[in-house]
Amino acid sequence: MKWRFVALGVVALAVAGGIAGFLLQRQIGDAMFKRAAAENVGRDRSAELADGLHVFVCGSGSPMPDPSRAGPCVGVLAGRHALLFDAGSGGPRRLQRMGFPVGRLEKLYLTHLHSDHFDGLGELMLQAWVGGSRTTPLPIAGPEGVGEVVGGFNMAYRIDSTYRTAHHGSAVAKPAGFGGAAEVIPLPTGPGKTAVLLDEGDLKITVIAVDHAPVSPSFGYRIDYKDRSVVLSGDTVYSADLVAASKDVDLMLHEALKPEMVIEVRDAASNSKQPHIAKVMGDILDYHASPEDAARAASEAGARMLVLYHIVPPLPSSFLDAAFLGDAPKLFSGPIKVAEDGLLISMPAGGSGIEQIMAR
Ligand SMILES: [Zn+2]
Ligand SMILES: [Zn+2]
Repeated sequence: MKWRFVALGVVALAVAGGIAGFLLQRQIGDAMFKRAAAENVGRDRSAELADGLHVFVCGSGSPMPDPSRAGPCVGVLAGRHALLFDAGSGGPRRLQRMGFPVGRLEKLYLTHLHSDHFDGLGELMLQAWVGGSRTTPLPIAGPEGVGEVVGGFNMAYRIDSTYRTAHHGSAVAKPAGFGGAAEVIPLPTGPGKTAVLLDEGDLKITVIAVDHAPVSPSFGYRIDYKDRSVVLSGDTVYSADLVAASKDVDLMLHEALKPEMVIEVRDAASNSKQPHIAKVMGDILDYHASPEDAARAASEAGARMLVLYHIVPPLPSSFLDAAFLGDAPKLFSGPIKVAEDGLLISMPAGGSGIEQIMAR
């Protein structure tokens, strides 16, 4: 009989707890919100990270709507340097949620001028400007044409900027710090199609011309900080130049499109009488890398870890990752990950560790 009393007691407690939760929902919600605000507002995760290279995947998606992936966006902390590579829609908001110090962002580097790589630029400029009380416009480096893109965003956001300054005051929303300042990165043309953009102290940034024809120029980037390194492919097919520039890199972030899945989407669009979508799906097959291409690139480069990003088509569940990867694990012996937004990869200097943290 004793167990019956125990069971009855447990049920009674659960019911009482449920009723109390229902009746006190407002009070509990207030307390939860207060705690979340104290823990998250203004959080600068860089203060918690060891000196090293830390990669914030703020957007792992593509132009195609993906419920869990923002457009392409990768934040890099290299020691005290805060850098961003691409600003796809929704990415800068995710970046801030991850605790990246957007307020002291030094520069945004664009890989190319496809709109999915800069359609979050407005949200980034606003966050960096007001959040960081900038006194100069955010430097935005990219291929030829970047001036036209940045000029357009500056024009589109100019009226909004006057409201911000009027409301928050010129000490917070400083007029001189509004917007972006474009810097053209010339197309590297020498052997290997690379150029060193910055080599100061412990930080070196190299640009690599990749192959995303007919979109040209299209860039990948290599970032070296002390003894750690990461390569971002940008949008490209398999690129021998990218492989050569990625020699012995710790981490390769490579874009990936699964042709077999895109063909399924194309055929479904065709069957549902959407010929334009079917045409686009057919066209995009020829200027992206497959997961297998990315694995081959990582293997040939001697990369220690491969993360796939710019995931096409959208994957609504990580259960599909194995189907997306296909034969990639056979081609690269190191760890491979299909990126999700909120992934933070931490590589402390002076060691060989590569730690994965979910920082949503
Ligand atoms: Zn893209
Ligand atoms: Zn592209």
